[in-house]
Amino acid sequence: MAIQKSEGILLRRQDLRETSIILTFYTKDFGKIRGIVRGVRGPRAQWTGGGGLELFAHDDIVFYERKRADVYTISQCDLIDYFNPIRESLEKLSYATYIIELLDSVTALSDKNAEVFNLILNSLRLLSGQASPRRVARIFEIKLLSLLGLMPNMGCCSSCGTATAGGFRFSLRHGGLLCKECLANDNQAFSILPGTAKFMEHVAGSNFDKAARIKVSEEVGRELERILRSFLDYHIERRLRTVHFIKDVGNF
Ligand SMILES: [Zn+2]
Repeated sequence: MAIQKSEGILLRRQDLRETSIILTFYTKDFGKIRGIVRGVRGPRAQWTGGGGLELFAHDDIVFYERKRADVYTISQCDLIDYFNPIRESLEKLSYATYIIELLDSVTALSDKNAEVFNLILNSLRLLSGQASPRRVARIFEIKLLSLLGLMPNMGCCSSCGTATAGGFRFSLRHGGLLCKECLANDNQAFSILPGTAKFMEHVAGSNFDKAARIKVSEEVGRELERILRSFLDYHIERRLRTVHFIKDVGNF
């Protein structure tokens, strides 16, 4: 394979032997890739390939194929954006870590999706600004579910298709709302505020900038967090390590 170039967001960094690291990027043109960067650690480090080696850095990267398996050699990581405001706030940092871990856990290597790349980039930019980190996390979760085809059905009953407004419950098992007549299908379905269902539906159907401006009450904000976390846990079996470190602070 010839030398490849792409923009990428750094999702994971692991040490390899004494002088190298393995980086996992979500790239715009190739989806998620893993690659080795040599000679960046230890007293004899001689890496001159750029400064974008920290988590969630937005880089221009250069990489090429190795004979073995699906790990590339990365020769250049030129920083485009370091997202300084995120690194200066422990709260923003926790949420950025959560966002990249979530993305890493739900995507497979080389599964290319430029919209997913734009979503992670837009989310990190929004998190760098004045937006509440909780709001950014909820929008990221909903848009990601939607792009991956996992979005719960929030417009009508997921069992019979009834569109009657109000009185719905949310079923993890059915992946969406259940009307009164279909409640027997899942006795563990729980109540959901109409505002929560509406927010999820609107965010999934809007572009990122518009979604970022949709306002909700504190109550809906808390319910969104609960429902999305339960849904992600239920459908993406692996529990996310960072979830447990994030305290529910700040306004939605
Ligand atoms: Zn129904």
